Amino acid sequence: MALVGEKIKAEFEILNQKVGKNDLIYFDNAATSQKPNEVIDAICNYYRKQNSNIHRAAHFLSIKATEAYENARKTLANHLNAREEAEIIYTRGTTEAINLVANTYGRQNVKKGDNIIVSGMEHHSDIVPWQMICQEKGAELRVIPLNDEGEQIFEELPNLIDDNTKIIATNYISNVLGTINPVRDIIKLAHEKNIPVLIDGAQATPHLKIDVQELDCDFLTVSGHKMYGPTGIGCLYGKRELLDSMPPFHGGGEMIKTVSFEETTYNVLPFKYEAGTPNIAGAIGLAAAINFMNRIGVENIAKHEDELLKYATERMKEIPEVKIIGTAKNKAGAISWVTEGVHHADLGTLLNEQGIAIRTGNHCAQPLMKRYCISGTARISFAVYNTKDEIDRFIDVLKKTIKLLKR
Ligand code: PMP
Repeated sequence: MALVGEKIKAEFEILNQKVGKNDLIYFDNAATSQKPNEVIDAICNYYRKQNSNIHRAAHFLSIKATEAYENARKTLANHLNAREEAEIIYTRGTTEAINLVANTYGRQNVKKGDNIIVSGMEHHSDIVPWQMICQEKGAELRVIPLNDEGEQIFEELPNLIDDNTKIIATNYISNVLGTINPVRDIIKLAHEKNIPVLIDGAQATPHLKIDVQELDCDFLTVSGHKMYGPTGIGCLYGKRELLDSMPPFHGGGEMIKTVSFEETTYNVLPFKYEAGTPNIAGAIGLAAAINFMNRIGVENIAKHEDELLKYATERMKEIPEVKIIGTAKNKAGAISWVTEGVHHADLGTLLNEQGIAIRTGNHCAQPLMKRYCISGTARISFAVYNTKDEIDRFIDVLKKTIKLLKR
């Protein structure tokens, strides 16, 4: 029997608390997931026993810290099946990873008259960096449209691509709609025209086993904090040819080979993109989170969350005021909805009073809100420790709260 739901909860101390009189139910996992004891222990152990700056000193602690940090990179590389560890660049998360690509690959390759393609369901972090480069260069941001179910209209993509398309960027799984996008088809089509593809993996890596070689994506971004790891750490996976050909992002220590006032030469991958003292404890914590996921089995986590998603979707249909936004055939993780006659912010506040943590608002996806003519949604999203009992309690409270707010 897989270690999911109630069986894993005890490993997440934070979940064992009350909000007022009620047990905490945490349904805000798409924003950030909770961290199991082994992740917290790995971070504490690093600061208690290994803390030192890495790569630069020859003493005992520095060697230990460097080993742990580089072993964590190996864990990430293995988890994503990168060809080599040098293809894993540590970043603060997805936002920094996309900014890295926009400011290096984008700045180097995008010219006036070119275009960049994103989809209509992107998080602001997969829109704004591209928009900034387009504005700077006089290029155009093109958008894959969405249908009413919350799916990308893939058939429109060939009409958007032309000889001036420099990159296509899309999320794998939408943080609002839960839609799993047809990234394999997008990558295949893009590669026929030699266009690289960046996959925003922020919502996908917590739910799916991703093999970057099999996927053949050119870039993939990871946010550690959404996959049971700490905040402030994630990575950019990139194919070596691309990473080698791009200019550096941040300048500073570690990313250089030689520096003089006349000229600087740059370090090899991955260090070329890792200026300054990194989040060493974060990297070690992220590796512990990956080991946690592999201990449970990513497939088991996905299966459990799928069951919760189907169960919650069915139960929400009992409530006539609820309209789910995002009914794609291929879905994972999250349910967004609007409630007739009730503002999502009021719902969030009253559910919180009952100990239920949901997220409300535009979810950093204002263009997506505009597409469905709404100002925001309420959203629940699941992780390995959530249970059907929690969904039952949530439905109960949701029904009562809607009645109360509509009075
Ligand atoms: N893309 C998606 C699909 C997301 O869900 C998020 C986080 N909500 C991000 C990007 C940004 O990730 P981060 O805040 O970890 O940089």
